[in-house]
Formats: sequence, structure tokens, C-alpha cells
Amino acid sequence: MTGFDRVKAAFKRQRADRVPFYPIVSGLAGQLIGIDARTYYTDHDRFADAHIAFSEEIHPDIVALVGDLFIEVDAMGAEVEFPEDDVPRLRSYLLEDKGKLSSLEVPDPHKSGRMPAYLGACRKVSSTVKESPVGGVICGPWTLATDLRGIENLIVDTATDPDYVHEVMKLTTEIAKRFAVAVKEAGAGLSVSEAPASISLISPKIFKEFVLPYEKEVISYLKEKGASVTVHVCGFIDPIMEDLASMGAVAISMDEPSSLQKMFEVSQGRVVIIGNVSTNVFLNGTRDDIENEVRRCLAVGKEREGYILSSGCELSLRGDIERVKWFCESASALGKYE
Ligand SMILES: [Zn+2]
Repeated sequence: MTGFDRVKAAFKRQRADRVPFYPIVSGLAGQLIGIDARTYYTDHDRFADAHIAFSEEIHPDIVALVGDLFIEVDAMGAEVEFPEDDVPRLRSYLLEDKGKLSSLEVPDPHKSGRMPAYLGACRKVSSTVKESPVGGVICGPWTLATDLRGIENLIVDTATDPDYVHEVMKLTTEIAKRFAVAVKEAGAGLSVSEAPASISLISPKIFKEFVLPYEKEVISYLKEKGASVTVHVCGFIDPIMEDLASMGAVAISMDEPSSLQKMFEVSQGRVVIIGNVSTNVFLNGTRDDIENEVRRCLAVGKEREGYILSSGCELSLRGDIERVKWFCESASALGKYE
């Protein structure tokens, strides 16, 4: 039985030999081939090698190609800094000056910035890894808008200049659609990150008015192109669970502050639910802490249909691979069906 079989079973709301699982790893995977964070984020051939090595050593049921959330805005001309041992940072926002909006264009994924290299990594990993589905991770429209304008500015804009926010969202929706199609053509599945759509950051009202319509548009556009979409939101999502379950995504990846139990109750089988093991235990947890988190999630998801056990969010680069292995061992043993 392979990752493909297990994930396919989850999407059909059936059971395989055990609950499928994967940790959401980015630069941490680089530890396996001895590359630093800067290399991981800037050299996509090595990025691909890191995920191939991760897949061969850890055997996750899904391989998620988590890069940074600035690939798209970087391709539009934003200045991104790549520290040697940390995640990339934006130096400034392209829409610091609101008036610049009309000068921005949708980047061509085959020509602009690091986008073509990311697509190359999608091709390389998906043609090498045969046992598990490979997912590309791109930014959703709201994430892109915050990368262009800054989350604080954007939240203020929703109150003072809502039309402007809609204009920004129209542009970012096109960016997301175009990159998503290219990722699909490169052979990878699609995971859309809406990390800052969390209710830890914005109100449910902002989500409904400024995020949801554009999310739906991206998802239905991709559906027409034959692609199904998983959406990840960080932090707390309990107040928007119904919206997330009904917007057309096939799966929702949810973070630890949100209630797994509630998500199952609200979604009623409409989406596959992915999550929501604490990322903290990967940073400094003991083997028991990790096992307890796996048990907590399996207690909710194992006997229900359409569950994939995963870390609630991307693991910190400061974690270590040993804890990831503990997670996989626990998940593999405790997730088995009798
Ligand atoms: Zn997250």
C-alpha cells in the first residue's frame, strides 16, 4: 500500500490500511542533504533534491513542496531577503504606495523570477517520487494581497478604501490562477496557502467580504481546468469553518489553534480535513509529547471519514528531523486500522 492508495482512499471517504499522514516541511527537509535555508529557497534543484531525500527517508503519504510565500511577489519585483539560516523576508511592499497598483502586472510563471525554477522542482519531484502524491504550494489571493500591501495596511484599507482592496484582490486572483495552472501542468497537485486569512488576524466579516469571493473564483476556475484544490489557513478558523467547507475546496488544512472536532461537525464530509498536530512539539517536544498530539488528533479523526493526519502548519526550520521521524513512527503505528 502506498501514499497514493491511502490518500485516494481518504478522498473517496474510504479506509486504507491506516490514516494517511505527512508533516508540512520546508527548509527543515534541507537538513537531510546538508543545505542551508538560503540554498533551499533560492536553488530549486537542491530544493527538489531535499524533498526527494525527505520522501525516500521519511516516506510521508503526501510530499508538499513548501517554498516561501514570496515567490509570486518576488517575480513581480518585490525585494526579498534570503538569510542563511532563516525563512525569506520581504524588504518592502510593492504597494507601500497605493497608487502603484496600476503599474503591476500578472507575472508569467514561465519567465518571471523564481517561478520557472519552482515549476522545474515540481516536475523533478513529481517525476521522481512514485509512491506519494506531490503537491505544489502557491499563495492564494489574500496572501498575495498581504505580500503586496502589508497586512496592517490592508486591514485598514478594508475599512477606509474597500474598493481599493477589491481592485488588489482582482489582480491577485489572476496571479493565483495563472501560477496554479502552471503548477498543475508541471505535474503537481495544488495546495493554496491562505496563511493570513486566519481569524487570529482578520475578522470573519473581512473574510466573507474580501477573501471568500476571490477564493471561490480561483477554486472554480481551477475546477474547470480539471484541478482540485486544498486550502491551508493558519491559526484560528472556527468562525469561518462553514465558509471554508462550502467554498469548493476538496480539502482544508487546519492549524492547531482550531478545533478538529468542530471542523468535522461543521463540514459533514464535504471536505477532507488535514491537520492539526501542534507544530510546537516538533520544536521542543519529547517523544511522548509528539505521541500525545498524534493520539489527540487520531481520537477525533481516525474513525471518521476523510481525514489526513498532518502538522497544523509548516514546521519551523529550527526543528529537527529526529522529531519528524518520531511523528511518523507514532502516526504509522497508531493510525493503523485493526
Ligand atoms: Zn499555516
